[in-house]
Amino acid sequence: MIQPTLFAGCEPEIAAGVDGRILAVGGGARSAAGRRARVVRLRGRAWPGLIDAHVHLEGLADRNLTLDLTGVASLGEALSRIKTWSETLPPDGWVIGAGWYNDAWPDSAFPTRAQLDRAAGGRPAFLRRKDGHSAWVSSAALKLAGIERGTEDPLGGGIDRDQRGEPAGILRETAMQFVAALVPHPADAELDDAMARALADLAALGLTGVHAMDTSRGFGSWQRLRARGALPLRITYNIPLADLPHAERIGVRSGWGDEWLRIWGVKAFLDGSLGSRTAEMLDGSGTARLFQPDLVEMVGRCARAELNVCLHAIGDGAVRRALDALAPHREAWSGWRPRIEHAQCVSPKDVKRFARIGVIASMQPIHAVADRELVEQYWPKVSAHSYAWAALERAGVRLAFGSDAPVESADPMAGIEAATVWRRKAHWHPELAISRPAALRAYTLGAAYAVGMEKDAGTLRPGKLCDLTVVDEAGVVATVVGGQVSFLRKPPAASRRSASKPRSRP
Ligand SMILES: [Zn+2]
Repeated sequence: MIQPTLFAGCEPEIAAGVDGRILAVGGGARSAAGRRARVVRLRGRAWPGLIDAHVHLEGLADRNLTLDLTGVASLGEALSRIKTWSETLPPDGWVIGAGWYNDAWPDSAFPTRAQLDRAAGGRPAFLRRKDGHSAWVSSAALKLAGIERGTEDPLGGGIDRDQRGEPAGILRETAMQFVAALVPHPADAELDDAMARALADLAALGLTGVHAMDTSRGFGSWQRLRARGALPLRITYNIPLADLPHAERIGVRSGWGDEWLRIWGVKAFLDGSLGSRTAEMLDGSGTARLFQPDLVEMVGRCARAELNVCLHAIGDGAVRRALDALAPHREAWSGWRPRIEHAQCVSPKDVKRFARIGVIASMQPIHAVADRELVEQYWPKVSAHSYAWAALERAGVRLAFGSDAPVESADPMAGIEAATVWRRKAHWHPELAISRPAALRAYTLGAAYAVGMEKDAGTLRPGKLCDLTVVDEAGVVATVVGGQVSFLRKPPAASRRSASKPRSRP
């Protein structure tokens, strides 16, 4: 940019300087931009750029590379899709995919390896469930991984068995790693192309930033894409717990990087998921994935290393353990912003403490829409405390909203709808819905705060980064990141022309 930019025609109008930051908002924007400004004509409302506080970018990229079973309506349909896909592969090629979701099938029983063996033509197959907390694997994959009748369940995971005690074809939680470790990865160039498409898709949904829960493979890809040109949105990276020793050794702290690509927290799993029946509940059900002494040690190490923590906790038991571990570290360091990811079920006894010790609730409203029936089935006694955005907000807990894509759609408009009007429409604990301004705040300032960027993003103020999501009744008009347009909706040229043309027939 060699001259300022004026985003005109939207409400409010906004001037961006050559440094990509906001010069002026509203009445003063035109004069602040000056007469020589580059003018981008828009319409609709300009919001602070929407930020998704929890996405899996590798998962989104992989969907462009592997078999995507999202939305498949039955086991039969899944098997026929697997068969068609497998037939394009060499006889010993891996069948890799994700997105199947037996809870949405007419028969919700978990599928078996025998079914998969036939569809995959005897190939090794590794198909992650939609929630990523279990995987459907074939006999060839089990054989390559050395999993057999006598193999013991690993700590924090499980191998489903059939009546004869043989592995049935479903691996849960940490047991997935036996096979996941063998799955071949695409070449960097292939991954980068798929990643670039995934990022462009997110920009088209109006997102100006994401908090990524990924691995070094994703981080490598974003760095290569960044070197190739501008990223279409900002990425804050949360490293997996397994990489904590490396972060400690190189001395990286939360916030290292720049506004486009930076490192923030350490992500750890305390439990599994509601869908996989592995959420750790106070009633004793579920699976603890990180035991309390290890969790306490991890939080202490992160606090000392000036790294933040993103603790995945879905069940009320896991949430309580997270709060127990975080409580002694209230003032760990100046940039301490501990987060609990998902917090899908929080005991009313823990809500006040959640706020008092300054823990951020990083939640994904769209999960409530997808999980409602499961909650009624598995959590009937706690549904009034589940996805309890309003109860947490009222208690003073800071909310950061996101999608958990590709587990759910990354569309922030769907998330805002879920958090605000959906509960009333669905007649499901409408008192837990929040207001539209509160939902927008959780997708903007709340998400910015959750990665220490509240001084740079989250509101439209002079001096902040010029990140905008411009929307009208039909959805996202434009996405602007650092004063640059990363997405612009195509004008509906054809329809406009035909509408203005005189009709030949009444
Ligand atoms: Zn997630």
